Amino acid sequence: MKGRTHPERIYSLLLFAGAFVALSVAVAMHGWLPGGHGPGTAVFFVVFALFTISMGFNHPRVGYVSFDRVAQVASILIVGPVAAAWLNGLASLLYPWHRLRRGRPVQEVLTASLHNSGLMSLMVLVAGLAYQRLGGPVPLLSLGAADLALLLLMVVGMQAVNDLGMRIFIGFRDGRFPRGTSVFPFIVESGAGLGGILVAIIFNRMELAVVALLLVVLSLGMLTLTELARLRSGLETIVAERTRSLREKTRELERLATHDALTGLHNRRSADAYLDERLAEFERYGGDFSVALVDLDHFKRINDEHSHDAGDRVLEAVAARMAGSARATDLVARYGGEEFLLCFPGTDQTAAVEACEKIRREVAAMARDDVPAGVQVTMSAGVAEMRPGLSRRALLGEADHALHDAKASGRNRVVVATPEHRKGLVT
Ligand code: GH3
Ligand code: MG
Ligand code: MG
Repeated sequence: MKGRTHPERIYSLLLFAGAFVALSVAVAMHGWLPGGHGPGTAVFFVVFALFTISMGFNHPRVGYVSFDRVAQVASILIVGPVAAAWLNGLASLLYPWHRLRRGRPVQEVLTASLHNSGLMSLMVLVAGLAYQRLGGPVPLLSLGAADLALLLLMVVGMQAVNDLGMRIFIGFRDGRFPRGTSVFPFIVESGAGLGGILVAIIFNRMELAVVALLLVVLSLGMLTLTELARLRSGLETIVAERTRSLREKTRELERLATHDALTGLHNRRSADAYLDERLAEFERYGGDFSVALVDLDHFKRINDEHSHDAGDRVLEAVAARMAGSARATDLVARYGGEEFLLCFPGTDQTAAVEACEKIRREVAAMARDDVPAGVQVTMSAGVAEMRPGLSRRALLGEADHALHDAKASGRNRVVVATPEHRKGLVT
């Protein structure tokens, strides 16, 4: 990676510093905890906040969605916005460090820790103080219509601040600010805020056993939801993996349908389709186009005197020679058992004969490591040039006649189709 500046680190540090100053002032004015609450309450809320942050899941579209609003709203309505702000800020400061065990870099974790802590504590402080200023009761003991309206406003306000904060952070991190709001996390996280209201009322009114029972039920609900989300993401991983392997298999099948398994060259079907395209192009635009049919000489002997396997090795070696010698625009195909078709676009018959001669010499001179010991391989070729009005069958027929001539006149040679070869062949 190039020397990145990481503006999100500076931003996170500044956000945290701002939250720290604001909280220091607020704590100096209002105290750490309201009367009647001791360190036990503080520990409870930090643990509760940590639990609700961890109860989250990675949504495929919107990222991490969690239930931390339950603890944030409940603590505002039980111990007031100032205490709630530092308690939840502390939990957010502690939470990201478990990622170190998953191998995340320290710098990244530190940035997340400072950013989340700064954003959450400021959000709780501002939303909580505004709620209180507007006449919202703290601690909350019952639910009047006016209180409910204020509470909803607070919960939605918190979500909006959270959303904005995350966008700014992502903007600094990725250099592009995300657009569009996702309704899903808005509903889930605001809904969690309503759960927080319930926790607060019961906490403030009921005995400890009832509060404990409520928390157990709530936790079970959150656990179930996160487990469902985990299952879903597991399934998505499996589906993605299957899709990938299916795509690979399809690609392999497509290759098998158009290529020869032994030599890796194009097969006859693929060569015919290619030829039809080139011939149509020839009829439309003209130009030079030549083909050559190649047949290995006395190939049966190689099979008989050595082995079928030795014959296969020879076919592979010859194919590699041809493919290596052909131009990128030429097509080399295995047209039959030990027959090959070479197509030379933009090439007249004289140049095609030259190309075939070069291959013929190379095949005849194949080194020992290319073919089984004691095997002598030669090839014969028949070359034909395309003319207007010629069909694929007629063109290949001319090449085949020339090939027969090459065989008849002693093999290991290249013969070009003559007017005699054409007689009766033009369709
Ligand atoms: P000619 O010089 O007249 O072409 O003689 P030839 O022996 O090559 O005669 P022909 O073309 O009739 O024989 C081709 C032989 O190629 C027959 C067949 O057993 C063998 N053959 C075809 N496909 C394969 C293959 O995939 N592997 C092997 N090892 N042999 C094959
Ligand atoms: Mg043959
Ligand atoms: Mg042969």
